[in-house]
Amino acid sequence: MSPTQEEAGQNVELIPFDEPRDLTRHERGLLDFLIAPLNCAELDELVARAKGVGYCSCGCPSVTLASDAQPLSAELMSHLRGDDQALPLEIRAEEDESTGRQLEVTLHVLEGELIELEIWGAEADGELVTELPSLEHLSYCRGH
Ligand SMILES: [Zn+2]
Repeated sequence: MSPTQEEAGQNVELIPFDEPRDLTRHERGLLDFLIAPLNCAELDELVARAKGVGYCSCGCPSVTLASDAQPLSAELMSHLRGDDQALPLEIRAEEDESTGRQLEVTLHVLEGELIELEIWGAEADGELVTELPSLEHLSYCRGH
């Protein structure tokens, strides 16, 4: 942790990588799990061409995303949301309770672009989760 981050204290920031990086197999597995039920070729393409472009300063394994594929149209965003609102799309899975914690894994899509694979939650003892959850404990839950 650099002195400037220490001074920032509890402020959580998304910090860009110097260079976009390929997603790990684990990150790809989570993304594929999240998008599969939507069955949308355009979204599949966005994710297939996504790279990691930044990380979260809090130490969690969230990764910010960018893709060079065509952004989703406003019509498609509404369709995927299941309503007529051109609002952000949040595609979410939750970890089951057998792990002793309940993490949420969310893919954020804003204005047709991938924004972030967010890992949210804490260990049962309140400690920060610093590793991606295992797919086998996740269940898909559709939210907005
Ligand atoms: Zn974080």
